[in-house]
Amino acid sequence: MVETPSVKRESGEADGVTQPKIGVLALQGDFIEHIQMFERLGIEAVEVRKPSQLAELDGLVIPGGESTTIVRLINLFGFADELRSFVDRGAALWGTCAGMIVIARELTDSYPEPLGLIDICVSRNWFGRQVDSFEEPLQFDGIEGGPFLAVFIRAPIVESIGDEVEVLARVGDGIPVAVRSGNLLSTAFHPELTEDSRVHEYFVEMARERISARPQK
Ligand code: GLN
Repeated sequence: MVETPSVKRESGEADGVTQPKIGVLALQGDFIEHIQMFERLGIEAVEVRKPSQLAELDGLVIPGGESTTIVRLINLFGFADELRSFVDRGAALWGTCAGMIVIARELTDSYPEPLGLIDICVSRNWFGRQVDSFEEPLQFDGIEGGPFLAVFIRAPIVESIGDEVEVLARVGDGIPVAVRSGNLLSTAFHPELTEDSRVHEYFVEMARERISARPQK
């Protein structure tokens, strides 16, 4: 295999800026779209299929898809404890849509059993009763350049948040749909399905802040 000269992954340096190592959980869902979005930003993102891969990463995305399936596969492949250690060592974790459900502390629904990584209570398929999918421009705290066009597909919402959790974006009459708690980010919508890479850039910055947490070799 031939190395692409412009990709300077060995040193972790590109254009003088240290690039975080990002992974996307590739068990189910729209992981390819996330990978493509990071690549557009010049960040190499790897498909994560084994828990041992987490040790190398500064950031991980759990994508949209079907949360019951993703939780089942997380447990089947032994990811749950490794994900807890990943968060405990300060690496950045971002759950989008089904990923938001997977990492929540609690659901209003009876299944799946979420991992309890971020202190939020989430309701699945919240908009499903009215309309399955829609787009809405949202004000997103921490992102400059005007509203972000959020794509909602059978999306959850955040019903309640713990003291440490900050709401970054709301929809409708103030329903939280993007939240952050330290190294954890959670969005009910799908930034990877737009042309707008600003939420991915925001997450890369979170992961970059945590590079020092990477185990030294
Ligand atoms: N409704 C799905 C679930 O509950 C999530 C949908 C999505 O990720 N777009 O898992």
